[in-house]
Amino acid sequence: MSIQKFAVVGSGPSGCYAAERLARKAVGPVEIDVYDRLPTPFGLVRAGVAPDHQSIKIVARVMAKTLTRDEVHFMGNVEVGGDISLAQLQDSYDGVLIAIGAPEDRKLGIPGDDLLGVVGSGAYTRWYNSHPDHTDAPPPLERVSDIIVIGNGNVALDVTRLLAKQASELEGSDISPDVEAHMLQEPTRRVTIVGRRDPQANKFSPLELREIAELEDAAMLIDPADMEGQDPEGGSKAVTLLKDNAAEYEERLAAGKPHTVRFAFRLSPEEVLGDDQGRVRAVRFRKTRVEDGSAVLTDEIEEIPAQLLVPCIGYRSLEVEGLPLEEGKVPNDDGLISDGLYVVGWAKRGPSGTIGTNRSEAQDVAERMLAECPAGGKPGRKAILPLLSDAGIKPVDWAGWLKINAAEEAAAAEDRVRKKFHAIEEMVKAVEV
Ligand SMILES: Cc1cc2nc3c(=O)[nH]c(=O)nc-3n(C[C@H](O)[C@H](O)[C@H](O)COP(=O)(O)OP(=O)(O)OC[C@H]3O[C@@H](n4cnc5c(N)ncnc54)[C@H](O)[C@@H]3O)c2cc1C
Repeated sequence: MSIQKFAVVGSGPSGCYAAERLARKAVGPVEIDVYDRLPTPFGLVRAGVAPDHQSIKIVARVMAKTLTRDEVHFMGNVEVGGDISLAQLQDSYDGVLIAIGAPEDRKLGIPGDDLLGVVGSGAYTRWYNSHPDHTDAPPPLERVSDIIVIGNGNVALDVTRLLAKQASELEGSDISPDVEAHMLQEPTRRVTIVGRRDPQANKFSPLELREIAELEDAAMLIDPADMEGQDPEGGSKAVTLLKDNAAEYEERLAAGKPHTVRFAFRLSPEEVLGDDQGRVRAVRFRKTRVEDGSAVLTDEIEEIPAQLLVPCIGYRSLEVEGLPLEEGKVPNDDGLISDGLYVVGWAKRGPSGTIGTNRSEAQDVAERMLAECPAGGKPGRKAILPLLSDAGIKPVDWAGWLKINAAEEAAAAEDRVRKKFHAIEEMVKAVEV
């Protein structure tokens, strides 16, 4: 019986959930090769989820179970669209699944959004997670006391929390010592988290909000006037938490903590203002009023000082030759792009939802692939390995990743989980030891 052969491009949650389903539900023999451009697996679980949220990163153990199944083979350090083409994969496998996520930051699209000191949350969070694309370019945090974080979702809270934590609150994390030192260099920080709409339109999780309220060195500040008319009973638990916090505004202010985290609502960014060095100095916002759930601009302006601006407003997929892209996503029909080519996860539906949101959708697309991509006697990675070898690319398999993992864990400082490698070359070297 001939083997059904699949390539999955991307080893993040959606790629792993799909690979697991392909392996488990196949009726005949199956081989699944999971490619990733990095030598390390797990996508944003390693490179997006905050380093002080190890309880969430633990999902990597479930993903590892998939990547170590007999039918599954990890092919790290291979960029599809760079080291090999999508067409070469399509020629070699019965079905190809795109699970490349959405790594590019969406821009604010207002004057000044490219000034020095404007750093999208994708780049920012990958930097603090030591993603090799970003370790050489830390965000300009020197002499940065005023920070604006735009967005009312959990990524905004992650960025803020890590800016306002002190070293002892990072125990048990996997933050790199250089990232930590760079992040903690200012003794005083004033972070403003800005939303365009009402507090009750927020997408914060109550757990993450509570973490801000409980920061040792930071006062969470919400103007009680902002919470008027916000109904915690039809609203979410997060609204109740915001209301409770607003009620304590005076005492939180009086506590005299070195950092403040202010929540500002109903503000739409209009222009990023720079100094004579081309660096951010403030953001001008237009106040909004909310009508039928939408933010309507008013005539009132508010200017907030900032030397760093982190927009947390979404992401787009990157182009891969041969892959259609529309508005930052891969156009598809229930996961189908074209004959034998499918898409899942953030590349399919855009940057929304948690890790778990990817599961059932990836499973559905995997089952579709099993039904629609019969075994055609294709060679699978046997045809790809010589191409990579000719190009001087050394794929990192699961055993290679285990060596990287062991080296990172061995290098961990006291009270830290690991010390991540910064460069792909260092990772590949660790595999060769
Ligand atoms: C900053 C941040 C924090 C988050 N925190 C949480 C959280 O705490 N809890 C939670 O539930 N969710 C969180 N999420 C959401 C969660 O990370 C996503 O739902 C999930 O990672 C999307 O999975 P994915 O597989 O589609 O993409 P990704 O996780 O991005 O995986 C894509 C993979 O494809 C690889 N790849 C990309 N291009 C290529 C190519 N050309 N060739 C080969 N490989 C390629 C990448 O290296 C990567 O490994 C967070 C997201 C962000 C941005």
